[in-house]
Amino acid sequence: MSNKAGTSQHSGTPGGPSAAVMATYARQDVVFERGEGSWLIDTDGHRYLDFGSGVAVNALGHAHPRLIAAVTEQAGKVWHTSNLYRVAGQEKLAERLAKVSFAERVFFCNSGAEACEGAIKTARRYQFVSGHPERCEIITFQGSFHGRTLATLAAAGNTKYLEGFGPDMPGFVWLPTGDRAAVEAAIGPTTAAIMIEPVQGEGGVRTIPAEDLKWLREITTKHGLLLVLDEVQTGMGRTGKLFAHEWAGITPDVMAVAKGIGGGFPIGAVLATAEAAKGMTAGTHGSTFGGNPLGTAVANAVLDVMLEPGFLDEVQQKASRLHQALARVKDEHPDLLLDIRGKGLLTGVRLAPPVGDVVKACMAEKLLTVGAGENVLRLLPPLNVTDAELSEAASRLSKALSHVAKASA
Ligand SMILES: *Cc1c(COP(=O)(O)O)cnc(C)c1O
Repeated sequence: MSNKAGTSQHSGTPGGPSAAVMATYARQDVVFERGEGSWLIDTDGHRYLDFGSGVAVNALGHAHPRLIAAVTEQAGKVWHTSNLYRVAGQEKLAERLAKVSFAERVFFCNSGAEACEGAIKTARRYQFVSGHPERCEIITFQGSFHGRTLATLAAAGNTKYLEGFGPDMPGFVWLPTGDRAAVEAAIGPTTAAIMIEPVQGEGGVRTIPAEDLKWLREITTKHGLLLVLDEVQTGMGRTGKLFAHEWAGITPDVMAVAKGIGGGFPIGAVLATAEAAKGMTAGTHGSTFGGNPLGTAVANAVLDVMLEPGFLDEVQQKASRLHQALARVKDEHPDLLLDIRGKGLLTGVRLAPPVGDVVKACMAEKLLTVGAGENVLRLLPPLNVTDAELSEAASRLSKALSHVAKASA
């Protein structure tokens, strides 16, 4: 037993969060013990409706029987072998992802940031092997989020996250979204690629208009640049298509995927055309854990469910139900809920009161939500959420807003 101050002894945490965990997160004081579908149950037995999904990760909710079966079966065989050998589940997953997307080559890693890093490296390397080693700059956008590694922080250019971490990694040109003249002016002899999220999730659920994505596709092609999409949050069915760029009728050259692809198991992927991936030859990139047998077994099971006929149509139907329900909440609280945004089940509501207050008020109503930029509250239910749960979430949000209004009156 340790008597050190602040280190609690068990997961019930009566003494509050353990000081042994580096304090990089301002956490809610709750510990979840188990999950069932769209619900999480805490150590006191309280049931929470999970409209955060671990930040768009638990795409099929908690304890999905098909995912449990897949992980259990694989766990009894082999977990990890490294990438020094062929991995059957990885080859299967790559083939399947290629079949259902623009991609012809897939690299597996463990997180969104790592997928974005891999995408950045793929783009630079493409220019290098195409005879343009000078083309190493990537145009990125204000309000974006690409992860917490030094390169992905530099890519997103969010000064709040960069402060105190030494010199910015060079090689990124950071522009406002929707400013075509700025993009045209920024393209030069050292530009390698343009990188963007089709919907800026962390930035405030800001949908990039389809015509802007189409224009970025045209301008990148015209200048011999690669179009890199960060679909870490928007991908894997979240917007009602398998990938959000399908809404715009375009395809990228390179794409980063993570979050939902493992349904809660940490796995990420870089998808690319054969041409864009031509520089990624043996020895150029790697990941010890990336695409291991356990991770790819789960991701293959996630894909089994998502590719079933009608699955994505249902996501779209549920999204429109959620948007309708939220429109009613907006009618009830027009001064608090200012607008409803997003695509599919990547939904946000912009608020008048501080989003942190509303997240807490939702917690009190046993509804889990996630904050985002621009004072937006994200509602990210599992993609297999039920209609009843969508209505329930809207009614809990409405109650939470009433409490916030009362508290500030
Ligand atoms: C979450 C996220 C990332 C980073 O993913 P991690 O797994 O936290 O590294 C990158 N890009 C986007 C768009 C994200 O939403």
